[in-house]
Formats: sequence, structure tokens, C-alpha cells
Amino acid sequence: MQRIAALLRHSAEGLFAALFPADCRLCQVPLWDFSRLPVCPDCLQKIKAFDVDRCRICGEVLAARGATVLIDPERAGLCPVCQSSRPAYGRALAHGPYEGALRDLIHLLKYDRVRTAARPLGVLLAEAIRSEDLGERPLLVPVPLHRAKYRLRGFNQAEEIARVALRLTGIDLDPHALVRRRATVSQTGMTPLQRRDNVRGAFAVRPRARQALAGRNIILVDDVMTTGATAHECARVLLRAGAAQVWVATAARVTRMIATQSLEGKTAMPPAATGTDAGRWD
Ligand SMILES: [Zn+2]
Ligand SMILES: [Zn+2]
Repeated sequence: MQRIAALLRHSAEGLFAALFPADCRLCQVPLWDFSRLPVCPDCLQKIKAFDVDRCRICGEVLAARGATVLIDPERAGLCPVCQSSRPAYGRALAHGPYEGALRDLIHLLKYDRVRTAARPLGVLLAEAIRSEDLGERPLLVPVPLHRAKYRLRGFNQAEEIARVALRLTGIDLDPHALVRRRATVSQTGMTPLQRRDNVRGAFAVRPRARQALAGRNIILVDDVMTTGATAHECARVLLRAGAAQVWVATAARVTRMIATQSLEGKTAMPPAATGTDAGRWD
């Protein structure tokens, strides 16, 4: 009888351990709630939304107010990159800056492969989408991974986030409209416009998806946007395939204060200026 009791207790503990993750994966406090997400409510509360002036196209943080003399009203509210060369997408929405708990959560999803981390990220993305009028019959299209990376990770984080947004907003999703034809080399240290050149030709629309895309308002989904080079290239091929317009929605946006600005209007991105690992993504 004692042995049976011990056995039951042992299996109950095993079950408990399997169901209840021990600690918050971001701050290590013990977790008591029954949740498949191994992150505590305090860490989720710490996720910050943007509260500063940002470029009305790409979402980059603008220089301190009054720092730029704007002569042309057409250019008001635009960062130097969008002033010199407008991206193919209409506008990029993002919940908050890529830092702190939001960045940790994205790392948990991508590098620790904790798929449940897509849930809070999808909630933030859905909120960003709901805050805008994105036209009739929008369609969610995640930025695809190169198949080698997909195999390594086992899932596409952008698709996981888009699936959560689909459940919350009811907006249609085509997870395989785009394909990544080649992996791009690290873009650390490149200017935003150099990054655009670097990813040119890296994405294509699948032939079978063309009909469904024609005339649709596309919401391109990703976990994080850096300079928007990837978003620009995806938008370019989607528009060429017949999409009406392309919006971008990400949970986070890497921002850097504009450090230097050459006469050509190109913005230099000082490598590792904020210690980000953003070069790996965009
Ligand atoms: Zn925590
Ligand atoms: Zn911009």
C-alpha cells in the first residue's frame, strides 16, 4: 500500500512538473499559475508600447523634436530613409520598441523555441492591427523563413504570431503566399538602403497564391522589424503579384536614434549602437 502511495505521489509530482513550468523564463520567479506560457504576469506587464514620435511610414523613432528643419510639408513626420526613398509598403505598425521584456519574449520564441510565447506577441500584433483601418478584406501573410532555417527551428515564428492574430481578429491568413528563395547574409553594419539591395530577389510569391492576392490589402506579419528592408522587398513582390496595398505589422520595432545623416539622405546605422542583434533578421 505504501509503495502504491509512493508511486502515485511520484507520478503526481511528475505530472505537476510537466504541467507547471518551474520558473518564469524571463525573470526566474517561481510560477504558480496553470499556464503553458512559462512567463510571469509581471514580465508581461513590463512590455512597453511606443510613446514617442515616429516616422509615419516605417515607424522609426524620429529625432528629438525641433532637431530637424522640415521645409517640405510632404516630408513632415518622415525619417531620413523614407524621405530619400519610400518603401514599397504603405505603413509599418509595431506595438513597441525591441527591448526589455518584449525582446526577451521574442528570443524565447525564436531561440529557445517556446512556441507558446507566440501567444502574447500575437495579442500585441492584433492590437496594433485593430488600431488602424486596413481596408476591406485584408489578408495576413507572414514573412517566410528560408527552408534551412525552418528545418532548424521547426516552425516559422512569424506564422505562429499570425495564427494568434487570425484567431483574435478573424482576418484571413495565407501562411505560404511568400517563399524565401535564399538566405541573406548578415546585414550588420549596412545602411538601410544597402540592406534593401542585399535582400533584393530573396523573396517570391508562390504561383498558386497569385489569384488569392489579387486586389487584396495585405498585412505582412513578422516578429520584429529592423530597418524594414525585408518588409520592403516582400511588399515589392506582393504588389507586383497584384496586391492592392501592403501594410506591415510586427510585435516589435528596432529603433535607433538617427546618428549621422549624409548629404544623400542616407542614414548610417552604427553597428551595435544599441547592442542589438538585429542584423540577423532584417
Ligand atoms: Zn517573470
Ligand atoms: Zn521612415
